[in-house]
Amino acid sequence: METFLVASGRPERSPGASVNVGVELTSTYAADGVVNYARSGNPTWNAFEEALGGLEGGRALVHASGMGAISAALSLLPAGGTVVAPDTTYNGTGDLLAAHEQAGGTVVRVHATDTAGFLAALDTAELVWLESPTNPLMDVIELDVVLARAREVGVTSVVDNTLSTPLLCRPLSLGADVVVHSVTKYLSGHSDVVLGATVVGDTERGRELGERLRRHRTLHGAIAGPMEVYLALRGLRTLSVRLERASANAAELAARLEGHPSVARVRYPGAGAILSIDVAGDADAAERVCAATRVWLHSTSLGGVESQVERRRRHPSESTQVPESLLRLSVGIENVEDLWADLDRALSAV
Ligand SMILES: *Cc1c(COP(=O)(O)O)cnc(C)c1O
Repeated sequence: METFLVASGRPERSPGASVNVGVELTSTYAADGVVNYARSGNPTWNAFEEALGGLEGGRALVHASGMGAISAALSLLPAGGTVVAPDTTYNGTGDLLAAHEQAGGTVVRVHATDTAGFLAALDTAELVWLESPTNPLMDVIELDVVLARAREVGVTSVVDNTLSTPLLCRPLSLGADVVVHSVTKYLSGHSDVVLGATVVGDTERGRELGERLRRHRTLHGAIAGPMEVYLALRGLRTLSVRLERASANAAELAARLEGHPSVARVRYPGAGAILSIDVAGDADAAERVCAATRVWLHSTSLGGVESQVERRRRHPSESTQVPESLLRLSVGIENVEDLWADLDRALSAV
């Protein structure tokens, strides 16, 4: 994986060849080539898609944002159809699911850890939506069990793999039909682009779904700029070292936070670089923690090299299942002692 991250999506090695793919600023191409108009493709997309597709073990498409990718994946659900989803998901996904309901469709919401509930709900569903783990409650769904049953009963399955990345979880190998990513987060890793991706298996069914996703991207037009994709590919090169350091920092902080008098609960799935904590106090106390940090950046989003903290319920669209005092911590690659000292001081002030 580490070697593939560095080597994939490069121009062929030949005397004088560039080591990186270029950024072609063009809307159209001279007739009779592989691509004729830049809404359908460009060489920078191809390089990124080759890299991400290889990492996930399938075929990738880059989209304008994570939400662009999620919209494309939800287009696989027939109008009026039934989707099964965790009762708490990324809030943008939650809003789209609510819109599906308002348009006459059905959403069956199951608690993330209720595996039997997912299995029972699959019988009447067209599509199942999963996250690895859920954002921001950090609940771990039994993906292998749910995906295997979905495959058995012919329900299309989608996994939002943003929080894990293919280094920690490869949903296609567990039986998922579609993987979606907010490339904005770990894959690009530097908080400088908004971008998304879908990945399908390299099978007959995968190719059929991939064509529908590609058609959605081309016709709905939520396409990425080549410069953003160039930056994402550049960021992807260092994913393994970034995630390794960030995950080690997160594990250390999770252990120390367990005993902190200002922390009522630590929600850490045991791997990865995101954890959430319930501050012992109300929403205002949690907001004061965010305002008091100096190393941690008080901001939304996650997966950058810099550590970020946010009280999720400050967003009106966040699920009411998320406690008012919950802070999501996206742990970066700074020195762990600096992160701890800053967080400990901010928490002790509540
Ligand atoms: C941020 C995020 C998204 C949305 O991605 P954008 O790139 O902001 O459109 C979707 N899913 C998860 C899990 C996210 O964290």
